[in-house]
Amino acid sequence: MSKCDCGVESFRIRTIFHEANGRYVGQTTECPQCAPGSFEPQWLRDKIVPAYEAYPERYRKSYSEDGAVCYTSTDEARADYEAKILRPNPDDVAAKEKALQRRREWAKSQPKKLTSAQLESINSRRQQILASPAAQAAGVHAKGE
Ligand SMILES: [Zn+2]
Repeated sequence: MSKCDCGVESFRIRTIFHEANGRYVGQTTECPQCAPGSFEPQWLRDKIVPAYEAYPERYRKSYSEDGAVCYTSTDEARADYEAKILRPNPDDVAAKEKALQRRREWAKSQPKKLTSAQLESINSRRQQILASPAAQAAGVHAKGE
């Protein structure tokens, strides 16, 4: 263990040698306490542990027939994991809603298609108008006549 310039004793101390014109002009030390930006964060140095050690309340310890230790997740933990997996991604939901909105706006801008019953009624009305005496007098004829 070494002592930093700031007064902290630590195993993680870095000594920086300063030079000017190729000559040694002095040295400084730094530790995670006084220069946290110069060192990797503590979580990078932490040991990776299995889930049953990190969350012991979510696992049941049991022994197999050959005596090996087994960890089984509890029903509540499994339900939580399933809920997390099945929860829709908010970005996907937003993208789907945006696409639906775009589709609705596009559909509003399109001319409406008539049903066959509507077309039938319009055609019969057209024939009535064309067959009327006023249309005959004006010289209007149905298409193809
Ligand atoms: Zn220090």
